[in-house]
Amino acid sequence: MNLREEINQTIRSIPDFPKPGILFKDITPLFENQKLCTRMVEEMIAQTPVKPDAIIGIESRGFLFGFLMANKLDVPFVLVRKAGKLPYKTLSFKYDLEYGSSAIEIHEDALKKNWKVLIHDDLLATGGTAAAAAELVKMSGAQVAGFSFIVELEFLKGKEKLKSHSNNITCLVQY
Ligand code: AMP
Repeated sequence: MNLREEINQTIRSIPDFPKPGILFKDITPLFENQKLCTRMVEEMIAQTPVKPDAIIGIESRGFLFGFLMANKLDVPFVLVRKAGKLPYKTLSFKYDLEYGSSAIEIHEDALKKNWKVLIHDDLLATGGTAAAAAELVKMSGAQVAGFSFIVELEFLKGKEKLKSHSNNITCLVQY
């Protein structure tokens, strides 16, 4: 079975979670299959045209594969978390949600100037969260080398929101 088919068959779709009308893509069954996880990490790295200086993982599911990719590439892994979770001095970026707003943060010393940074999350929906992470990269004086996701919800056109930051956007499966 090819990688795409195997991921498709493993990810579960949960209707009306966490609220009515959302079809939630549950990636947790992937973690029961170590060989599949290894192939996913290798493929996400292979799809990235430049070797980044660091990888960002977005809270919380972006931490899982983001850290594996960073370790495999032998580059630092940097956490982007929801406001108030990181213990040291932070840079913060506020962005709009469907209802209300949210803020994400990064440690102010986590990225070095001019580093090329790959931003990873489990899923690309509207692109608002990943675009906010890109703003944090720029506020740190670093550059966005690209974006890497496991799942893209194509109908939400999240890629459009990210293109101004980088055209290098890869996703292993689309729905
Ligand atoms: P967005 O900012 O709209 O691109 O939303 C992306 C973030 O929300 C990611 O961190 C995802 O984990 C989460 N997310 C959004 N929609 C879904 C969904 N249908 N299934 C699972 N996670 C989702």
